[in-house]
Amino acid sequence: MESAKCIICNSDNSFKLIHKVKDRFSSSTMYQIKKCTCGMIMLNPRPKEANMKKYYDYENYHPQNRTVSIFDVFFKLAQYLNNFIKNRAINKHCNTGKILDYGAGNGQFQNFMFKKGWSTDIYEPILKSNFYNGEIIKDMTKIKSNYYDVVTMFHSLEHIHEVSEVLSKINLSIKKNGILMIAIPNYNAYERKYFKNKWIAYDVPRHLYHFNYDSVNQLLKKNNFKIIELKPMYLDTFYNIIMSVDKSVMSFLKIIYLTLTSFYNIYRDNKQCSSMMLVCKKNEI
Ligand SMILES: [Zn+2]
Repeated sequence: MESAKCIICNSDNSFKLIHKVKDRFSSSTMYQIKKCTCGMIMLNPRPKEANMKKYYDYENYHPQNRTVSIFDVFFKLAQYLNNFIKNRAINKHCNTGKILDYGAGNGQFQNFMFKKGWSTDIYEPILKSNFYNGEIIKDMTKIKSNYYDVVTMFHSLEHIHEVSEVLSKINLSIKKNGILMIAIPNYNAYERKYFKNKWIAYDVPRHLYHFNYDSVNQLLKKNNFKIIELKPMYLDTFYNIIMSVDKSVMSFLKIIYLTLTSFYNIYRDNKQCSSMMLVCKKNEI
């Protein structure tokens, strides 16, 4: 384990403990989530980067690999819908070109984008991929500069140890008018307050950061990006609630109640969404 500096203000001694959370796959270790005086919330201390691989070695961490159940049918359908939503959000800014998915998992999104006519690459250092339509980059230094029209980081930013180094490399890799699309869990999610330490998106120790709109905005500004659009990801709300709820006779009613109240709150204030999809442009330097 190592203690981490704040990724926004660089302080290493301004953290206050706010949550103690167990790894959902192994109940033996309790992890500490701390808040910096600048507002940034982080796992601290955290496992060293070189030791992270074992925390992804749980079969259930990869729901796309499991056999069929009602939940898996829902997962596949949601994944398909999510691909459509992401593609539509990208098409608003760019219709075709070169796209890199950073932290691509099994590469399913890039396989989808390839069929839409994009030139596709992925960066995936840990997970096994079924990607066969472009380059699989394993070494970050091999990412080409001034090359991509779009870079996507869907649920990967919160997993990255050297996050500023990576964002600055990605900034260099995107062409002048290109875009960066990020999806991350939102600490200000309405349903988090209900589930407390059982909230699925804490996902310790894999999630190193717990962003809200203000903290991710500060991190992006620091790395020469500006947010031009925030889109709530409604399917993630449903996913978070199903995955966080306790298994009891009341579960079904709780899911319905929480989904409806969450949707209503997101409709009133989209900064309470469960996951934020952010469209970013490079700042002019
Ligand atoms: Zn700080």
